[in-house]
Amino acid sequence: MSTPVPVAVTVNFRGRDVPLASVSDQRVVSALTEMGRNVGGLLAPVRCPVHHKAPSDVRLHVDATGNADIRYESCCTKLRDAIGKALG
Ligand SMILES: [Zn+2]
Repeated sequence: MSTPVPVAVTVNFRGRDVPLASVSDQRVVSALTEMGRNVGGLLAPVRCPVHHKAPSDVRLHVDATGNADIRYESCCTKLRDAIGKALG
């Protein structure tokens, strides 16, 4: 088992991007916490085949319509490819 990658979740709420921690609707918080955990789990085993690095600074941003967008830092395009495959 790999350790899940920490995922920072932000939400667009009334036109502003806010951290999930400041959302008061517990249904939203628990759904998005779960989503972040899933992404972190999927990314846990992913390493760059060239540099053997994991993605860092992983962010899951959910816009006002509920679309999720994943952003992260990667050492190179090989890691981006590996992440794209892992997330399907
Ligand atoms: Zn790399």
